[in-house]
Amino acid sequence: MSAAPVHLEELDAYAAEVAGCTRCRLAQGRTQVVFGSGNPHADLMFVGEAPGFHEDKQGVPFVGQAGKLLDRLLSVIGLARDDVFVVNVLKCRPPGNRDPQLDEIEACESHLFRQIALIEPVVVATLGNFATKLLSGRQLGITRVHGQEQKTTIGGRDVLLYPIYHPAAALYTPAMLKVLESDFARLPELLGRALVPPPPAEPELTLVAATASAQQLGLF
Ligand code: URA
Repeated sequence: MSAAPVHLEELDAYAAEVAGCTRCRLAQGRTQVVFGSGNPHADLMFVGEAPGFHEDKQGVPFVGQAGKLLDRLLSVIGLARDDVFVVNVLKCRPPGNRDPQLDEIEACESHLFRQIALIEPVVVATLGNFATKLLSGRQLGITRVHGQEQKTTIGGRDVLLYPIYHPAAALYTPAMLKVLESDFARLPELLGRALVPPPPAEPELTLVAATASAQQLGLF
């Protein structure tokens, strides 16, 4: 994981602020805000949909059945929850675990953008349709785009966005497990690629640029 300084104090202060959020109706039914958890230095962030029953009770994302599968998928690629940071699009549980509504996503999205700006991941893996559509800014569903990384800018940062099926999909459709496993298998390569520093500028290009500006200054 990166040694880059993260904004730890700001992140803690932001978590405390979001704990009292009343921007949408979900504030009324929640036990608590589920801000997110994991390693604030993580290069890899997962974005799920919304807390469910267990997450709402414990205040931690992905602690139920889907979370156990997430842990297993991570362990296959040599990672644990402490290596990554996990959040959701919505920070509060929708009643009866219904789908997030558009106005709820709109009310909550700046929390997610701020989390990304403070944690500074290089790869953001979106789990399922809601996170993928929000962060890609496109309406293409997860079936079309899973496993296809794309460069994008979120919260003012360049990141590699990587859509994956939501682990819950494999709980309902066991055949989906193979797809999830093969999409997860690419994560180490994507992290390696995103962390490679850009090559130094071509010396020839520098010379051309220097000559051009010297010419503009009337030196030739
Ligand atoms: N599903 C999600 O999307 N998030 C959770 O935290 C749990 C289940």
